[in-house]
Amino acid sequence: MNIGDLLTKAARTFPGNPAVVYGERRLDYAEFDGRVNRLAAALYRLGLEPGDTAAVLMHNRPEMLESIFACFKAGCAAVPLNFRLHPRELAYIIDHARAPVVLASDAFAETVAAMRAELPHVRTLVVAGAAGGGALDYEELLAAESDRFDSAPAEPDDTAWLFYTSGTTGLPKGAMLTHRNLLAMTMGFYADMCPGFGTAEVVLHAAPLSHGSGLYALPNVGKAAAHVIPPSPSFDPEQALHDIEDHRVTNLFAAPTMVKRMVDSPAIDERDHGSLKAVVYGGAPMLAEDLRKAMEKLGPCLVQLYGQAESPMTISHLPHGDHVLDGSPEQTRRLSSAGIARTDVEVRIVDAGDRPLPPGETGEIVTRSDLVMKGYWRDEEATAAALRGGWLHTGDLGYLDGQGYLFLMDRSKDLIISGGENIYPREVEEVLVQHPAVGEVAVIGVPDEEWGEAVKAVVVLAPGRGATAGELIDFCRGHLASYKKPRSVDFVDEIPKNNYGKIVKNELREPYWRGRERRVV
Ligand code: AMP
Repeated sequence: MNIGDLLTKAARTFPGNPAVVYGERRLDYAEFDGRVNRLAAALYRLGLEPGDTAAVLMHNRPEMLESIFACFKAGCAAVPLNFRLHPRELAYIIDHARAPVVLASDAFAETVAAMRAELPHVRTLVVAGAAGGGALDYEELLAAESDRFDSAPAEPDDTAWLFYTSGTTGLPKGAMLTHRNLLAMTMGFYADMCPGFGTAEVVLHAAPLSHGSGLYALPNVGKAAAHVIPPSPSFDPEQALHDIEDHRVTNLFAAPTMVKRMVDSPAIDERDHGSLKAVVYGGAPMLAEDLRKAMEKLGPCLVQLYGQAESPMTISHLPHGDHVLDGSPEQTRRLSSAGIARTDVEVRIVDAGDRPLPPGETGEIVTRSDLVMKGYWRDEEATAAALRGGWLHTGDLGYLDGQGYLFLMDRSKDLIISGGENIYPREVEEVLVQHPAVGEVAVIGVPDEEWGEAVKAVVVLAPGRGATAGELIDFCRGHLASYKKPRSVDFVDEIPKNNYGKIVKNELREPYWRGRERRVV
């Protein structure tokens, strides 16, 4: 099935359901589907053929969802771009994706126009909003087409979404997500993550549609849910809580830092968020202490997902039922896990020689399922390495317990090796965040003449609180083996995060490793 037909079917059965809410703009499913059909037809008129790619560069707005679904229906691969990337990075991806068409919003029209000289493959720039300077106008393009369109007969292995990784370990790579991958992702959402998901849901797209929230839109479209898109391009916890109350939002996807910001906001006690049935968090670690606070404030609606671009949305999940406050020691321990593998997903832990490890032993997390990408676009070498032996090598380190709960430690590149001992930053972070003066924390390895690397904690103090480095180090001493405690603490105003709410550890490490021959950034 062409994944775009999630929309065709939803619009056929529920044409009058509210589909998109964006400020004063409203579209029902018949209108939303009609606009997507017009755009799909326009892509053909612009010379695209099934199998081609189209880049999408917009803030969250209705045209972003329309563009992604139009690409699906036309049998083309959508290449949604992270709008916070530097123009150089954007140019690299658009060129690498060989996209003949760029669908941009007016905020980015100039950026794309300025880089056209470096983009020999781009034939057409379409702009939503006020077009100019040789760009085609999105609305004019739609007006010229019919609102009926038969989706391209996509094969399960055809690429639907070219999902570029953040490129923290080199140049970004395009994970080819197929119609099969996205359908498996959608079905797993209904079966495992949010069973009971109905046809009167309201989703808030608080996170970027180019990443987690975009994937998350698919199961919502499949059940004809209303998509509330906040007009502001950056996440605002007060606005999100206001939208939840106003639109009776039932579900949303958020990075852990977004959940934390909502929970820490005074608006959490002022706004009614009782309509929430699922707050799906993931994409980065949620420290157990932060999770406990979120459970206290948000009630029984939290679900964790662990996934990556190469296996979209879910490899494992921590279901509603495992979010137990004041549970048994076993239940409390599970709050630090990434839950259990999805029903249709295999997860193993392997050593450096790809040999499976028994429960309790830490190694690389590998996975096999219909969710795993076809490969990296135009990169056979990276594909062969990532998919060797038929398993996706996630680059994440972790272990499985005897009941199949997956405990994620860290990305392998974030592991600190100090005096020959492996130290997982997350373990140290989990302790430090329990200190009342610690608002946010990231633990990194910095160069050390004697030990190779030394543990450093970078801390944002909680509002109105103070602590010295010595106090925090002593606190760790009481909870951790001595070799794991930080040797130093830096206090900062802000910890750098990318647009998707992930702490950018290589950026944090960079100043310490600059100029060194051996670098771990
Ligand atoms: P991306 O490909 O940008 O979605 O990033 C995926 C990476 O984010 C994974 O490989 C993990 O390192 C991290 N990640 C995703 N979900 C979780 C989670 N629930 N807990 C901890 N880390 C996570």
